[in-house]
Amino acid sequence: MGTDQTYSPYWNPKMELADRATISRWQMHKFQKTLAFAYANSSLWKKKLDDAGVHPSQIRSLEDVRKVPFLTKKEYLDSQEQEPLFGDILAAPIEFVMNYHQTSGTSGRTPLRVADGRRDWSWMVDAWAEGLWALGVRPTDVAYIAFSYGPFIGFWISHYAFEKIGAMTVPGGGQSSEARIRQILDLGVTVVVATPTYGLRLAQTAREMGVDLAKESKVRLTVHAGEPGASIPATKQMMESMWGAKCGDFGGMSECGANFYYSCSERSEGVHLHEDHFLLEVIDPITTEPAPYGQRGELVMTPFGRGSLPAIRYRTGDLVEKMPASACACGRSFDLFRGAIIGRADDMRVIRGVNVFPSAIEDIVRQHDEVDEFQIVFTRQGFQDEVTVNVDLLPHAYATRCNTLAAELSRSLSEAHEGLRINVVAVEPGSLPRFELKSRRIIDKR
Ligand SMILES: [Zn+2]
Repeated sequence: MGTDQTYSPYWNPKMELADRATISRWQMHKFQKTLAFAYANSSLWKKKLDDAGVHPSQIRSLEDVRKVPFLTKKEYLDSQEQEPLFGDILAAPIEFVMNYHQTSGTSGRTPLRVADGRRDWSWMVDAWAEGLWALGVRPTDVAYIAFSYGPFIGFWISHYAFEKIGAMTVPGGGQSSEARIRQILDLGVTVVVATPTYGLRLAQTAREMGVDLAKESKVRLTVHAGEPGASIPATKQMMESMWGAKCGDFGGMSECGANFYYSCSERSEGVHLHEDHFLLEVIDPITTEPAPYGQRGELVMTPFGRGSLPAIRYRTGDLVEKMPASACACGRSFDLFRGAIIGRADDMRVIRGVNVFPSAIEDIVRQHDEVDEFQIVFTRQGFQDEVTVNVDLLPHAYATRCNTLAAELSRSLSEAHEGLRINVVAVEPGSLPRFELKSRRIIDKR
């Protein structure tokens, strides 16, 4: 029962195995429909395209797509602040809205609101199901969603995708980490869904309860989204060894819905772009010219199934690097992002001429499993910028070797950053904030 021979490895083989010309033709068709719908139904898009002197009928090739203006997060938020609830970006009558979600508001602005109609939602669920299937989720699985089930869209869609696959789907909301671990053991859970940060926290909680998840649980897959981590090599390795399971990374974003990249069942350096459901462009963030394979650039995204709120050519601010599909052995034709989201363009800091990416710091810090939580603090002393990494160690490590560990970490971090001094301070165990959803580990005091 449930062996791999029972099922096809592909959810949608026609698209997943199509050749590049077919994929491009399909994407063009979908892009045109998405753009024409937005132009006819969203006053924001009508105005944007008219101002740019572009009519949807003129967009006939992927080259032409570059004439379509970008959408920014600021435009999205401005639109909703000026015309609540959903702004003039909304392309459907309000009575079509079936699902409401919002992001946590940032820097004093109102939260970004998203509205989905029945068709939008069913598109998102199908896209998630395709990704989960590629990782290896099957109807025989028991999926546990360790998530608060609040207004943030988070893992809501994945919940329905597990249902669609036919896996037993357990909503693990509103409980302590200890209670969640007990349920995971009692119900024979085989797939756990959590942010990477919370996935590690749960595993740490199990360890404190005296439970070895790798031996005592049936978990064979962990599914992560919401922040980078599951594709940061050291974090992924720690997750896999603590859970004794394969760790998968999924891309999601409130503004664009669904999941726009996923891990397949093979081990590769990348995650697959969801090219049957999105047009995913990579651009040079300064010149906005397309970035070729192997060149890091900003991800610009067009979802094909978010009709109610058309996010066309949405500038995500996420940095990615595309590589060809042939780099993965699974046979899918969809290209890959090496290391998934490498970082946020606005998370990167230039300190004394050296680029500092929080994800690169995480990759080094997570090589030490005595570090339970950490925080990156940027300060300015006189004219000089400083980076300090506060590490919250497990109590036994704090008691026995906090100074040596801090010195070791500081040395490795500095070596990875062209000799830039990076201070490491071991703080009182348990004193740094813990996160269940998106972690906030960067503090810029400059
Ligand atoms: Zn693959």
